[in-house]
Amino acid sequence: MSKSDYYELLGVGRDSSDADIKKAYRKKAMQFHPDKNPNNPSAEAKFKELSEAYDVLRDDNKRSAYDRYGHAAFEQGMGQSHGGNSAFDFASSFSDIFGDIFGDFMGGSNQSSGRGADLRYNMEVTLEEAYKGKKATIKIPTSVACSDCNGTGSEGKSSPQACRMCNGAGKVRAQQGFFTIERTCPQCQGAGYQIINPCKKCSGNGRLRKDKALSVSIPAGIESGVRIRLSGEGEAGMRGSSPGDLYIFVNVKQHNLFLREGPHLFCKVPISITTAALGGNVEVPTLEGKRGKINIPAGTQSGKQFRLRGKGMPPLKGHNLGGDLHIETHVETPVNLSKKQKELLKEFENEGKGSSQNPQSEGFFSKAKELWDELKD
Ligand SMILES: [Zn+2]
Ligand SMILES: [Zn+2]
Repeated sequence: MSKSDYYELLGVGRDSSDADIKKAYRKKAMQFHPDKNPNNPSAEAKFKELSEAYDVLRDDNKRSAYDRYGHAAFEQGMGQSHGGNSAFDFASSFSDIFGDIFGDFMGGSNQSSGRGADLRYNMEVTLEEAYKGKKATIKIPTSVACSDCNGTGSEGKSSPQACRMCNGAGKVRAQQGFFTIERTCPQCQGAGYQIINPCKKCSGNGRLRKDKALSVSIPAGIESGVRIRLSGEGEAGMRGSSPGDLYIFVNVKQHNLFLREGPHLFCKVPISITTAALGGNVEVPTLEGKRGKINIPAGTQSGKQFRLRGKGMPPLKGHNLGGDLHIETHVETPVNLSKKQKELLKEFENEGKGSSQNPQSEGFFSKAKELWDELKD
């Protein structure tokens, strides 16, 4: 599927100012925001596309790269493994956009509707857990009705009184030109009443903090920076309004054997000089817990790469295909040799004199000799 032009997506010209782009994004993002289009995958996809477009166009560097090269500027290319701005980066940059745009507009809607705040939960997983997927139980802070005041917020028998500013309506009206603007009462924040004698346990909030256990499933193949949204698991809303969402930001810890790049795994495996010279089978670790086997041909050098197809990370739905395991050999020089071994090695060297058995050394030293000869003159 070919990607849509970022400018066309936002409906702005290529010479639009930053402010125009922000305005256009804001308008469209509000229209397609998942909270306004629950259970609507096409709106969510559109929202994602818009956010991706805005993430590029709001940044001067990314925008000029996009203007010059189009989408190709952000595709993962050869030798540019970290320069990409594909689907993965979307999640990590999303929080910035969030703060930038939704910080105010969501905050605004929170105040008027009483919708609970979105929560962010940072979760660390090991590479093994990222490989297999994980079911985790997390504790998140949430609020429950205060038991001392039964959620009223008032101490003892005193009952709350109707707010004097709005007369209990929770809203106030103001005339502005031809329009009558209705807004949340600033005195009681829309509650319609005021607590005269606040409950000591909950300070008049009527709610108390309590941890809630929540089970979360982390999909196999998860990458650092990917965000999992649990709709409605955020903070409770005020006065029965809808709760916020919970966002789980996943960070995959570094592994002591494997280096991960996207779906691919890399592992350096030491081999003895005899295996390197004579060839042989070497067992290598894989993340599925089994032993992989690679066949080392005779005369293998350090840095030689072998690939075990499909032994990398499993595919993460919607993000990538599964990866491979890349093994790099590292020929290890033996230490703590016995007297006998030293003799054998000397004998070994004498035996090979005159024949071309170390092509790299010979090539290197003949070039070095040329340099020494030149410097002599
Ligand atoms: Zn209370
Ligand atoms: Zn009021």
